[in-house]
Amino acid sequence: MAGIDIEGLATVYPNGVRAVDGLDLHVADGEFFALLGPSGCGKTTLLRTIAGLENASEGTVRIDAADVTRTEPGKRGVAMVFQDYALFPHMSVAENITYPLKVRRVAAATRAETAERTAGELSLDGLLERRPGQLSGGQQQRVALARAIASQGKVLLLDEPLSNLDARLRLEARTFLKKLQRDLGITTVFVTHDQAEALALADRIAVMESGKLRQLGTPREVFARPVNTFVANFIGSTPMNLAPGVVSAAGVSVAGGTLPVEGFTPEGAEVTVGVRPEYLTLTTGDATGPGLRGTVVVAENLGVQSLVSVDCDGTLIGVTVPEEEEPEPGKPVFLTAPAARVLLYDAESGEL
Ligand code: ADP
Ligand code: MG
Repeated sequence: MAGIDIEGLATVYPNGVRAVDGLDLHVADGEFFALLGPSGCGKTTLLRTIAGLENASEGTVRIDAADVTRTEPGKRGVAMVFQDYALFPHMSVAENITYPLKVRRVAAATRAETAERTAGELSLDGLLERRPGQLSGGQQQRVALARAIASQGKVLLLDEPLSNLDARLRLEARTFLKKLQRDLGITTVFVTHDQAEALALADRIAVMESGKLRQLGTPREVFARPVNTFVANFIGSTPMNLAPGVVSAAGVSVAGGTLPVEGFTPEGAEVTVGVRPEYLTLTTGDATGPGLRGTVVVAENLGVQSLVSVDCDGTLIGVTVPEEEEPEPGKPVFLTAPAARVLLYDAESGEL
């Protein structure tokens, strides 16, 4: 098993695009690591550079402590699953799964045995003689995974492997993948633009923007404490409330009211106040203490919860409430949050 160490890595395309722009990253042995970011931020390029399918322009890539920056892809010990699976349409499932072994001239009997075993691990039993065109999307996806696993790489690189599946299959495949990775214990880098997928699967997450890492941490850390407004905007199935504020003696003045804050920020400092809808509490009766007064605009049903939009002095603030406590539009309400949940970002830099 193997960790991945990346130092000062840059990948510049011939057209001058610095798709990976000076990046340091350590992925631990056996870790399930998610790379998350919007389309075009450099996720695929980073993965391809780790695999050796793109050349690093600067910096180093180490796998299992060995410098592989100039090593050809086939000798790095990595297995990659591409977004479109890249299965060979004219080959059977068994031939697809064992293709990397055939390239390495592994004996036919060993290949057949590997195909059987891997197909079993990936719930593809009975499908070995079929062609990819005769499989469902979910099955094709598992064949691509099976091929990667059968190649016995030290690390598994997955480029948006679930994005071509419909919603229900995607959830099933997600659970399957999580269990498989845990059972195999293989170091995995999983690329996605879907924050919910990253939060659900990964031991740790790196959020990328424009070829750079903007935050690295556990799903819990990144969700509860985004270190800048870019990450704050990107993480969470309901968007974080971000509104301009000024630090006061009582807390922070925002949206016509006051919210409590932790720690010390000089009075008068101009900030962007960040508070998640999940961490705000809505009350409809009399209320005292710091908080925001407003009027309910709309409520959206999210299932067991509702997302209520409240107009607080011209600023719309989102707050989640249990579905049965959903207030009527037009109702006056009061919003509060614990000081620990109110984040203050520098108004200019957007950093915590
Ligand atoms: P992501 O996977 O996060 O969507 P990519 O790594 O595919 O991002 O792309 C990162 C940036 O590099 C984008 O600006 C993209 O247009 C550019 N890019 C990707 N592939 C190439 C290429 N082969 N040649 C030139 N530019 C590329
Ligand atoms: Mg991509």
